[in-house]
Amino acid sequence: MKNDSKLIHAFLKEKKQQSLYRKLRISGSAQGPLMQMDGKKVLTFCSNDYLGLANHPDVVGAFQQAANQYGVGSGAAHLINGHSIEHQQLEEELALFTGRDRALLFSTGYMANLGTVNALLERGDYLFADRLNHASLIDAGLLSKAKMKRYSHADVNALEKLYKQFSRSQKADDFTNSMILTDGVFSMDGDEAPLQSLADIARKNQAWLMVDDAHGFGVLGKNGAGQLEQDNLSQEDIPILMATLGKGVGTAGAFIAGSNDLIEYLIQTARTFIYTTAMPPSIAAATRVSLKLIKEETWRREKLQALIQQFKQGANQLGVKLMPSNTPIQPILLGSTERSLKLSKTLSDQGILVSAIRPPTVPEGQSRLRVTFSANHTTDHVEQLLHALEQSF
Ligand SMILES: *Cc1c(COP(=O)(O)O)cnc(C)c1O
Repeated sequence: MKNDSKLIHAFLKEKKQQSLYRKLRISGSAQGPLMQMDGKKVLTFCSNDYLGLANHPDVVGAFQQAANQYGVGSGAAHLINGHSIEHQQLEEELALFTGRDRALLFSTGYMANLGTVNALLERGDYLFADRLNHASLIDAGLLSKAKMKRYSHADVNALEKLYKQFSRSQKADDFTNSMILTDGVFSMDGDEAPLQSLADIARKNQAWLMVDDAHGFGVLGKNGAGQLEQDNLSQEDIPILMATLGKGVGTAGAFIAGSNDLIEYLIQTARTFIYTTAMPPSIAAATRVSLKLIKEETWRREKLQALIQQFKQGANQLGVKLMPSNTPIQPILLGSTERSLKLSKTLSDQGILVSAIRPPTVPEGQSRLRVTFSANHTTDHVEQLLHALEQSF
């Protein structure tokens, strides 16, 4: 259909008219509250570098040192000769940290999700997915040959109903695999999945349960091991944990953690693991230092919580309606796409960068400003944001 430059042009024009056109901004500095964007100095509230580790000197130092030792490129896939001792040690440390038997690195979270779901499900299987799951989980389901059923957001009763229908359609001797798939912390809303209830449903129905903790890992739990640590959920409760390393951890890549058999199975079958170049060893080395900081520097999580509370109270006083979230993702729901863009623009005119999130990233009529916080923000930064909101609302 798009094999025609006129059609592409018309598509672009339509997106512009609908305020749905996306544009790149160019950053000229490291991640942090104060950045150079498109040549302008701005105060940012849109990064996923929640703990402020992306530019931490120890993390940068470990990266540099490993690059001196191992070079830059890993040269090959993990199963050829690209799996370095840094990758191996990082996997062992991730398994220990998350309380799982084993962990397996992937080059991105997107690939971890595609590879794992597709390794475990085949034609005739069922996939039950939260309606607000991240795009990579949706794509994982679409790529698989399983039947994907989406249940309304965090709605345990709706999921149970789907399972009742599912079990009625099964013959006693005809065993079909099923999987429940969910974000832990929802990426555009900041709220958390009811993991304990999902674990109960999965156990009752002998289903796989896979949780994508991209936004909880590093941020939630006493030691920062994520939502599963916070909710005290074991490997038996959540057999498949996915988390990314490019957000709270501040580096890049992702991992799956679970039983020894699960990891061995993925090594044999996950195509996005097998057929891709291993992440650079220096990324693994930097990530190991970052994990150490996550565990040791508990003040980062405490400060983040204090900033979140400060923002919530301030927004409440201004009558700015936030969504129910206890995480560093604090969206301001506006509904209209035009209104969201306009507010984002007004803030940007005051030197503050908050991104407007529009369909198809969020459902129609639910455009919003996605405000995020980092442990490197100060109370003064939050005051500046509140002041700018007061001027703009
Ligand atoms: C960012 C994100 C991913 C993708 O991870 P990348 O490493 O950036 O590819 C997957 N799931 C969720 C919920 C995310 O927010």
